[in-house]
Amino acid sequence: MNPIDLPPVSSPLRDAYRALIGDVDRSTARLAGRLHEHLRCMPGCSSCCRRFSVAPIEAALIGEQLGQRSVTALADDSTDRCGLLIDDLCSVYTLRPLICRTQGLPIAYIDEVNERIEVSVCPLNFSQSYRFSHDDLLYLDPFNRLLAGLNIRYCRETGVDASSRISLGQRFRFS
Ligand code: SF4
Repeated sequence: MNPIDLPPVSSPLRDAYRALIGDVDRSTARLAGRLHEHLRCMPGCSSCCRRFSVAPIEAALIGEQLGQRSVTALADDSTDRCGLLIDDLCSVYTLRPLICRTQGLPIAYIDEVNERIEVSVCPLNFSQSYRFSHDDLLYLDPFNRLLAGLNIRYCRETGVDASSRISLGQRFRFS
């Protein structure tokens, strides 16, 4: 696979991303407090650390904050585990992307076509028959829309393809 080079993220975009992550973390903390009796999430449980794909802006920020300017990804097709997982712990925990910050909680998506709410849950935390109230759910669409907007701005500034995705299943090599 060809190397993926990601230019630096501008300061205004970096600040906007941090503000977004702050909002996500406050929402997940509130919900984790509400649902704490059900949550089995703990260090060493890495069941949800799969080969997610992230937007270029998030991959660039992980690379930058680890002290490198660009990220080169090497494909590792032998596993569907995240390439940033080491000994069942996240090696970039404080920098982890948005999708990783919501795992374990009941995630809600609006299905506008079928006019219903889709809920995604971790089976270690909730059975499929668990009855959620609206206050139990984390609605991810607004956060994802904001992230998509930031990614488009980043890609316009840098010339990176805004539709590209970077798999966390790839091994990252920083150069
Ligand atoms: S970035 Fe960290 S939290 Fe996210 S999937 Fe990879 S190891 Fe897990």
